[in-house]
Amino acid sequence: MTPRRNAVPAQQAVEDAEFAGLAHARSRADILAALHATADGLTTADAADRLTNTGPNRLPAPPHRSPLVRFLAQFNNVLIYILIAAAVLKAILGSWVDAAVIGAAAIINSVVGYLQEGKAEKALDSIRDMLSVSARVLRDGQWVDVDAEKLVPGDVVRIGSGDRIPADLRLLEVNNLRVEESALTGESVPAAKSVTHVESDAGLGDRTSMVYSGTIVAAGTGVGVVTATGTATEIGRIQTLISEVEGIDTPLTRKLAQFGRQLSVLILGMAAVMLVIGRLIHQFSIEDLISAAIGFAVAAIPEGLPAVVTVTLALGVQQMARRNAITRKLPAVEALGSVTVICSDKTGTLTQNEMTVRTVVTARHHYAVTGAGYAPHGDIELDGAPADLGDHPDLTVLVVAMALCNDSRLTETDGHWRVVGEPTEGALRALAHKASVEAPMRRLAEIPFESAHKFMVTLDEASDGHRWLHVKGAPDRLLERSGTQLRSGVAEPLDRDFWHARVEELSAQGLRVLAAARRPAGTADGVDPSDVDAGLEFVGIVGIVDPPRPEAVAAIANCHSAGIRVKMITGDHVGTATAIAREMGIVEGPKPTALTGADLQSMSQPRLREVVGKVDVFARTSPEHKLRIVSALQAEGDVVAMTGDGVNDAPALTRADIGVAMGVKGTEATKEAAGIVLADDNFATIERAVEEGRRIYDNIRKSVLFLLPTNGSQALVILVAVLFGFALPLQPVQILWVNLVTGVTLALALVFEKAEDGLMNRPPRPADQPVVRLVDVSMIALVSVLVAGAALAIFFIAQAHGQPLAVAQTAAVNMLAMGQLAYLFNCRFVSTTSLRPAALRGNPWVWRMAGALLVLQLVFIYVPFMNSWFHTAPITVLGWAVALGFSVVIFLVVEAAKAVGLRLGY
Ligand code: ADP
Ligand code: MG
Repeated sequence: MTPRRNAVPAQQAVEDAEFAGLAHARSRADILAALHATADGLTTADAADRLTNTGPNRLPAPPHRSPLVRFLAQFNNVLIYILIAAAVLKAILGSWVDAAVIGAAAIINSVVGYLQEGKAEKALDSIRDMLSVSARVLRDGQWVDVDAEKLVPGDVVRIGSGDRIPADLRLLEVNNLRVEESALTGESVPAAKSVTHVESDAGLGDRTSMVYSGTIVAAGTGVGVVTATGTATEIGRIQTLISEVEGIDTPLTRKLAQFGRQLSVLILGMAAVMLVIGRLIHQFSIEDLISAAIGFAVAAIPEGLPAVVTVTLALGVQQMARRNAITRKLPAVEALGSVTVICSDKTGTLTQNEMTVRTVVTARHHYAVTGAGYAPHGDIELDGAPADLGDHPDLTVLVVAMALCNDSRLTETDGHWRVVGEPTEGALRALAHKASVEAPMRRLAEIPFESAHKFMVTLDEASDGHRWLHVKGAPDRLLERSGTQLRSGVAEPLDRDFWHARVEELSAQGLRVLAAARRPAGTADGVDPSDVDAGLEFVGIVGIVDPPRPEAVAAIANCHSAGIRVKMITGDHVGTATAIAREMGIVEGPKPTALTGADLQSMSQPRLREVVGKVDVFARTSPEHKLRIVSALQAEGDVVAMTGDGVNDAPALTRADIGVAMGVKGTEATKEAAGIVLADDNFATIERAVEEGRRIYDNIRKSVLFLLPTNGSQALVILVAVLFGFALPLQPVQILWVNLVTGVTLALALVFEKAEDGLMNRPPRPADQPVVRLVDVSMIALVSVLVAGAALAIFFIAQAHGQPLAVAQTAAVNMLAMGQLAYLFNCRFVSTTSLRPAALRGNPWVWRMAGALLVLQLVFIYVPFMNSWFHTAPITVLGWAVALGFSVVIFLVVEAAKAVGLRLGY
């Protein structure tokens, strides 16, 4: 297609974008012309113009369930069925007010459930937005990072391994580019890409000149021009959104829901037995029995439980996000509480990733470098005096190699120098600036750095037409490929021992060591990995400092006291890794064991299982070693959190109990595999997430501990009344009332409970430990008996004082609510006593909810229409005093029981 030159360009680009369906069959020049673009990219103004025409580059969010459907779904619940059945029965028996109250309760219950669910979904939605994707694009002739939503057809975009491709691209340049396209084609083997166009009828999987939005770069790099964005992309057409934060179901909520269902069945069975006994032994009237059965069922079913758990999880996840740990998979939050091992990257996670070259070593000299950070101020000194590059040809070659084999750029804002690109390369760029070295060569080709091979190669052409291969990377990798070394400007045989000794020296100081090598390239105009297999000329090494993050040092200490081991897994040299691990307190002693990738390679998996627990430093590893380490740890019973950033880390992250991806330097591929993404790449954030995970789990346990006795005590009161054949101390509508008011007030206060002291001094929770432990069951039983006993006692005391039934019943209901309020204070702390001032502080929600409950109770007891709806009657001050007294007793007895339990080691 020839471009129509007389149209408005921006409009034109959009129309032509529709023909982009054929972009794979066009030459690069054709497609650029059709898009009114060049290989130098768009201007910012042009891009903004096009954006108004095409709209943002995003897919519509997956449809949410409509509010009405979500509301109606709330009625699909055993409790609601029972309530509706009860309302119908009451109506048949002519108790219209009761029927209406029960019906209203059913609706209120659904509204509360609906609101809580909405709150949980909102919390998760806001987190979903935090995972936006950026793209590296050529604008105004400069590579810049922009939000992928701002891409327009005609933009020139660079992609690298691990990236999720941000739009449909026609490739302009490729470098060993391979792309995993299973999201589109179902083919899981990565497809090799090229720049030559293919047949116009080629299927998606055969369009090697294109890469498609949503697929993932498995290896290599490439540059392409955007042909389609948003819904116009191939993935947009099939309307699947790949990266979705998962729903609000987790193993825990499912387990609890199942528990709730089993309990309901049990309760219905017990109600039936109760009916038979009441009828055969005590000759209750049918009407009373129905009332009792309804009351019992309504009392015993813990309908509020799933909602409280969901809200606790969702709010906890929001809290974690505020502290830079973004949850992608809710089950990860549950696993956090039982983590026993954290495997962490070194660079950037444990260290600051603020690299500065300190030392330069050539065959003849050992130089020191002054200056801090990325600022280009400082000198390269020999014996305390600045070295003149003119007298040091080896140094010049080394610095030039490091500057050429480098994709970073340094920028200054307000006197502060920052790096665009990789910090390691930024340090080398700063070194070149300090040496005032210009690198007057043109890059013809490159092999990008990958963690798996640990070096980078460029093919460069000097102004005199000579071509060179420059290599920089891990010294061991370069030494094994070199035959000669540069000394005073000439090649001589390589002295391996000399270099190994220098590398050991530098790395023992915790310096990151990088080497450079080169060789003439003749007339080659491409570079292949086999070109650097051997025959390189070794130029020298540099030592780079990367200081530990101080907060990570503290976090490691916290992990240790929380019974969590920290293991460093790094691609760096074993000496450097050990030195930094020692500095950070990961290992101790003069000779800590460290394993290298080579050691792992020669080790069988059973052997690895034997030693993995004792080794805390793994150096010179490749991404696939992480998978073996995770598997070995898991086989030994550990619960493992594993960090990663590169595309090859994804399998290990998926395998780990909690995959942790880096938000800043991590690739899209890793983020997708991860359960948690660190917005700041910081180890300390993992430690905080663990703390938060423990807190969330504690709070869920507290909610369960708190809610179940509400049901237990009410059910018990009715059971006792029917079994012993006396007047019901509670009416069904009154039970509904207590359930509702304690459910919407008190239970929610625990959601906001802060972490308990000593949370990070406990060992990790065993992964197979149920939420409701045996000790909890005893506690629930005890509290049920206490509260039920108090309610029955008050009921009889009132009757003994000649009060009418309504007053006695009201007093009993009030006792249930007050007893539950007292018990709330017991539940605030599960691992320490609540008999201390702290039980009254630290969570304002406790008081707000207690206040709300009191107000509701006053309305319930003293407002006339409530009296007629709920069959209540005003109670006396004495009634309140007795309830208060019993509540204090309940609180104290529970504390005593808790103390015994804690003393026995629960
Ligand atoms: P880590 O992130 O665990 O420190 P990497 O996989 O990033 O390890 O790096 C491993 C080794 O590869 C480093 O010790 C260094 O020698 C080398 N290396 C790192 N970055 C680069 C780069 N940009 N170019 C060449 N070599 C590099
Ligand atoms: Mg790295």
